[in-house]
Amino acid sequence: MSGITIDILRQRLQARQHKLTTQRRTVLEVFIAHPGEHLSAEDVYGILRGEDIDIGLATVYRSLELLANLNILQRMEFGDGCSRYEIGTMSPDEHQHHHLICVKCGKLLEFPDDLMDDLENDVLEKTGFKVVDHQVKFFGYCKECREKLDK
Ligand SMILES: [Zn+2]
Ligand SMILES: [Zn+2]
Ligand SMILES: [Zn+2]
Repeated sequence: MSGITIDILRQRLQARQHKLTTQRRTVLEVFIAHPGEHLSAEDVYGILRGEDIDIGLATVYRSLELLANLNILQRMEFGDGCSRYEIGTMSPDEHQHHHLICVKCGKLLEFPDDLMDDLENDVLEKTGFKVVDHQVKFFGYCKECREKLDK
């Protein structure tokens, strides 16, 4: 559970003298309603249009950008030229899960274990740099595609 709420959004916007507009709220609500999903601007736009909500694609783009700058959403590129967003974590010691991307079918899987503690400590020891988060993407073949390849 990410724990990001509309209240947190309001606080972070206020801290930067931004207003909580209906559009910004609506866009965040899509992510709260679709936890664990990685949505592009077009996906969000499609979901909102499907709910008869009148919003322009350009507004969706701008809202996503702002929410990512506020660390409410995480922006990710998966190599298909289309940015995707997912809701961020609230806890500072919870790092982002890793993403497994199938280069054959384009499927996106999540890998929840961090497994980077040794590396993070190594980085700190050798450079004095404290890692607070990371975005790790693994490219490969998913189980289904591998089974097809093996045949
Ligand atoms: Zn980590
Ligand atoms: Zn696949
Ligand atoms: Zn993810």
